Amino acid sequence: MTKGKEQHAFRAELSQLLDLITHSLYKHPEVFLRELVSNSSDALNRLRFRKLTDKNILNPDADLEIRIDTDEDKKTFSIEDSGIGMTKSQLIEDIGTVANSGTLKKIKQIKSQGGEIDADMIGKFGVGFYATFMVTDQVIIETRSAEPGAKAWRWISDGKSGYTIEECDRKKRGTKISFKLDDEYEEFSDNARVKNIIKKYSNFVDFPIYINGDRENTIQALWRKKEDQLSEDDLNEFYKFVTMDYQDPLGYLHLSLEGVVNFKALLFVPSRAPYDLFQDIQDKKGLHLYANRVFIQDDAGNELLPEYLRFITGVVDTEDLPLNVSRETTQHSPAMAKIKNILTKKILGILEDWSENNPGKYEKFFKNFGPLFKTGLNTDLNNKDRIMKLLRYESTNTNKGEYTSLDDYIERADDDQDEIFYITGDSREIVEKNPNLEYFIDNNIEVLYFIHPVDAIFSSSLDVYEGKEFKSIEKADIDFDKSDSKKSDDKEQLSGKPLESLIEVFKDTLGDKIEDVKASKRLVSSPATLVVGKDGVDPQVERMMKMMNQQGGFDQKKILEINPGHPIIRNLNRLNLGSSTNEILRKSILQLYESALLMDGNLEDPAEFVKRMNDLMEKATE
Ligand code: ADP
Repeated sequence: MTKGKEQHAFRAELSQLLDLITHSLYKHPEVFLRELVSNSSDALNRLRFRKLTDKNILNPDADLEIRIDTDEDKKTFSIEDSGIGMTKSQLIEDIGTVANSGTLKKIKQIKSQGGEIDADMIGKFGVGFYATFMVTDQVIIETRSAEPGAKAWRWISDGKSGYTIEECDRKKRGTKISFKLDDEYEEFSDNARVKNIIKKYSNFVDFPIYINGDRENTIQALWRKKEDQLSEDDLNEFYKFVTMDYQDPLGYLHLSLEGVVNFKALLFVPSRAPYDLFQDIQDKKGLHLYANRVFIQDDAGNELLPEYLRFITGVVDTEDLPLNVSRETTQHSPAMAKIKNILTKKILGILEDWSENNPGKYEKFFKNFGPLFKTGLNTDLNNKDRIMKLLRYESTNTNKGEYTSLDDYIERADDDQDEIFYITGDSREIVEKNPNLEYFIDNNIEVLYFIHPVDAIFSSSLDVYEGKEFKSIEKADIDFDKSDSKKSDDKEQLSGKPLESLIEVFKDTLGDKIEDVKASKRLVSSPATLVVGKDGVDPQVERMMKMMNQQGGFDQKKILEINPGHPIIRNLNRLNLGSSTNEILRKSILQLYESALLMDGNLEDPAEFVKRMNDLMEKATE
């Protein structure tokens, strides 16, 4: 047996991360306390869970507790738990590395965009322990795993370059972390100060916490209380404790169900979305599962929530799981599927309640989580109608950043309007310039703006709502005759034989670049526009496919619509009456077509376009 000290260097990634953390957290030095208590609580939960099925552990009868000791004179701080402890390899792997390899990349990205690293990001990135190096320049961990026969280890680090590991003679199971505070942080050796910080959330820690020998918390399973016993302060602090968020939640939902399945739940809607909603939801911890008050896992959202509601956090506590639960048994338990079903309905219920009775709150929810929520259209067909009712969009009728519901859209529409019109694009500014919108603005027909990337993807799942069909205004098959267009009477329209002949010249010039050429009823002030055939792919989806480099198959041909009332079209008619092969006529047709491509974001050869434009300008200025 070697008793010698082993020297280990931090991986380069960790050193950089430590530097960033300590420089980012200076405004919240007390973060380290919460992180350490939370780690101890995790270690105790894991021990208790293991004890359910395996009594063969070190000190099986030791109390499950956390002890914090401080010494104001010596400026020292220590926290000790009787939890699961760590083996040597766990010390090296869990403490010496960054859990989530994308962490550093993400932190750097936030920094480079001028953002601040929030205190709550640290916990979520799985690097909470390192916050300790904010307040000290040397940390000692002494730990002994609950594994029978495991040795005790001492880990010492300055939080900069690396750490040493050596055996030590700790007898008890569990972990003790101790350090001397830097002078400027000596406040954390002050008994009253530490009690004050811990008090806020210690009542939610499921184990007794002693500070300098005094029991600090009265454990309470908040979710088991009656609704009228829940105070807002408790709820907010509990939320922060469970999720490591620093802000109050947007709202909560308290459930107590008995019947087919028995469970209690305290769920929260966070007040803002994580940095990368879709990615962070994937590795999300935040829905804690308890079986009869015993903590089972902190990432039960995978099993208990549909993907599109994965932003919900909180606690679910059920009596319907076997006591010797394991992850495998929970995953396949019929109780879990039933709970999931009920949670989904109740969460939609609270969102419906907000949308009706507290629109401001609902809008805030939708701004943050709408993009993820909309994915439910494709994945939760049972609740599709309820999801649709909850959708919100900007439209020709709203100001920027304001929303309308589909119900309000229908309410405003004429009775004989059978469609819900929409247009897709990258932003409000871009869709507002789309010539296909002209007719609708002119005739006061509302059009929804699908301007989030997921809108284009999910537009195909939006088929019918309340008997009205969703229709892209960029598609050819719109019935313009039904509503009386007011433009036809106030402009001189090209029609009859001359129009037909001009359309033939367009077709001859553009050849197989296009599917068809038609006289447009939708254009007011633009000479031409491109639309998609009835069975074509939405232009925004096409653009996205192109961006993802899947060009083949998605270069769909479109229909060119020309505006018979536009001066350019009428002038082209004049040229055509002279000679259908007139050079300016032919070049202008190509130019109109490519201008429409340009507006669509699909022009591939700008050089040719500019050259032709210069030719035309030369002629015009002769
Ligand atoms: P996180 O807790 O977010 O995973 P930390 O850096 O705080 O990140 O801790 C890293 C890991 O070290 C933990 O996941 C756990 O495995 C281990 N660990 C930390 N503190 C303790 C403790 N008191 N007892 C046992 N294991 C611990």
